[in-house]
Amino acid sequence: MSWRRVRGHEHHIETFARVWQAGRLGQAYLFVGPPGIGKRLFAFELARSLLCDAANRAAPLAACDACPACAQTEVGTHPDLLLLGRPEDRLEIPIDTARDLGRHFTLKSSSGRGRVALLDDADDLHDESANCLLKTLEEPPLGSLLVLVATRPDLLLPTIVSRCQIVRFRPPPRDVASTILREAGVADPIHADRLLRLAEGSPGRARDLANPALWDFRKRLLDALTANRADFIALAQDWTRFAESAGKEGTLQRRRAQLSLQLLVHLVRDLVAIRLGSDVVSVNADERRSLARLADRASTETWLTLLERCLDADRHLAQRVQLALALEALCDALAKILPAS
Ligand SMILES: [Zn+2]
Repeated sequence: MSWRRVRGHEHHIETFARVWQAGRLGQAYLFVGPPGIGKRLFAFELARSLLCDAANRAAPLAACDACPACAQTEVGTHPDLLLLGRPEDRLEIPIDTARDLGRHFTLKSSSGRGRVALLDDADDLHDESANCLLKTLEEPPLGSLLVLVATRPDLLLPTIVSRCQIVRFRPPPRDVASTILREAGVADPIHADRLLRLAEGSPGRARDLANPALWDFRKRLLDALTANRADFIALAQDWTRFAESAGKEGTLQRRRAQLSLQLLVHLVRDLVAIRLGSDVVSVNADERRSLARLADRASTETWLTLLERCLDADRHLAQRVQLALALEALCDALAKILPAS
């Protein structure tokens, strides 16, 4: 049965089932919450359940996974289902995507079960495409369902938000997240715990951070930071090469740069915690000594300034600033903070 892939959101499954059985399902929803916790997957399973040939209000809301409609929704070829999001190579959702969405709802449902559309990355709508979407939201055809999925709802036009029912998603409980990670191949529970802490409980982000190549790079980063005469030009070059080795596509390279940057952010946060007298959990004794020495090399304020530079670099990467330039600027900031001793 469907929903088996959705974990840790049972409460929302029950609510949607109840609302649907009572014939009170809304026409526009906005799913919000941190990345990597299953919002989009939930929206997809909801769409599959509604379009299943066997769907019937007297039975639980769930796709049967055996009918022709379920086979089509699973591979994205069902004529009543439209799955959209921001193209990988774009900063914003293009106007054409918003128009496709509007057009989808003007057509008659081929199955008689209504038309359904999911728009992922809805926080990347720019003014023109947002206004186009607004027209669809103002006159939703009867029996249709639009689900917007967003991590930063504050970036959406208030007029769009006000026309949607908001459903907030939180990271799944820690034991559920640990199981997801274990199934993804993270066998060591201590490492799994550390990854989930870094990912703020998001199993999807923790899975991305589990890549051993990232942890090898983190070690090189820590070695460079603790060296007496660190070569930050070499570090910037190594970092760029490491990001570029993720694959030919710019998206993969940027993603790797962002993930490795996240490891630096947490390293610096640990340094601040040490300076403030807190213990740093889940690091081994060797690393704890290295971190303690490093923490002493600059003031708390200086480390906090470095955190800001990391956030600048993260923003630059998100804005598609050239990889090498973004990383050079960050390593330059590191060189100023950690002069040769
Ligand atoms: Zn079915």
